[in-house]
Amino acid sequence: MPEPLFERIALLGIGLIGSSVARIAREHGHLAREVVANARTQATLDRVVHLGIADRVELDVARAVEGADCVMLCAPVGAYADLALAIAPHLAPGAILTDVGSTKQSVIRDVGPLVPAGVHFVPAHPLAGTEYSGPDAGFTTLFEGRWCLLTPPPGTDAMAVEKVAELWRRCGSLIEVMEPAHHDRVLAIVSHLPHLLAFTICGTADDLADESRQQVLKFAASGFRDFTRIASSDPTMWRDVFLNNREALLEMLARFTEDAQAMARAVRWGDGEYIEDKIMRGRAIRRSLIELKQA
Ligand code: NAP
Repeated sequence: MPEPLFERIALLGIGLIGSSVARIAREHGHLAREVVANARTQATLDRVVHLGIADRVELDVARAVEGADCVMLCAPVGAYADLALAIAPHLAPGAILTDVGSTKQSVIRDVGPLVPAGVHFVPAHPLAGTEYSGPDAGFTTLFEGRWCLLTPPPGTDAMAVEKVAELWRRCGSLIEVMEPAHHDRVLAIVSHLPHLLAFTICGTADDLADESRQQVLKFAASGFRDFTRIASSDPTMWRDVFLNNREALLEMLARFTEDAQAMARAVRWGDGEYIEDKIMRGRAIRRSLIELKQA
């Protein structure tokens, strides 16, 4: 087994993503010699102790990062600015500060200016998740075969970028380095817009008159059920994603709305060819995903 990459990793936020990293670190021993977990509430840390997925828990975020050579922000992105402010004076010189947030321009905007000289800031986003949250939700195979996108700002130390890439490789991820603005546009279409549609369609169904609403639940297996799975995701996390990728999300939503209008027009005027063509394109995308093993 290779030597651990880090002496001590501090995970600030220990929900689905943080606890998955913690589990991998503890189970395989090749990420860090010591895992320190921090959360917003003591109840979560008590749960972490019960699960035995960290060497130490710290409610005080400043103490959590002291002496850590890797600090990973694993909280909702809206909490990053306050977290960065609280930890900045306590980061060890030479430490790597990284994150797992679903938006990248906002993270660089909120955290970047607070990073002390001598600390290496390497933003990252593992494209892996489920609709579950909290420390019980994590598991060691979450990142296997999934992409992890790194968006280092210009001038970031290449060794630090490579170390974060290696951390995610050891979690089973495939690595790609990307411009933060490009990341946010791509994620707006592959993740943020689909979640917005799922939350919206569940709201639309819920607004129906009582009798129809009951039928929605009864016959949900017809397609609605798949939307409800996505829509059961954590509200704080998704609120923060929408508010922190506002421009790209609104742009993709505008494009989608135009396409939905075109589809409505085809339905209204009986344009079967148009409808069939759209469905064929959907099927082709699904086939490509299966071939790329991302389905
Ligand atoms: P989660 O399961 O809801 O856990 C969030 C953790 O952050 C909890 O330990 C929570 O502590 C802590 N936290 C600290 N400050 C907080 C605050 N102000 N508000 C709420 N929680 C706070 O979240 P997650 O799914 O692991 O997501 C963590 C990060 O990963 C987010 O930035 C998200 O964008 C990103 N991400 C998520 C997914 C996904 O599918 N879920 C995928 C890739 C990336 P308490 O438990 O004490 O509240």
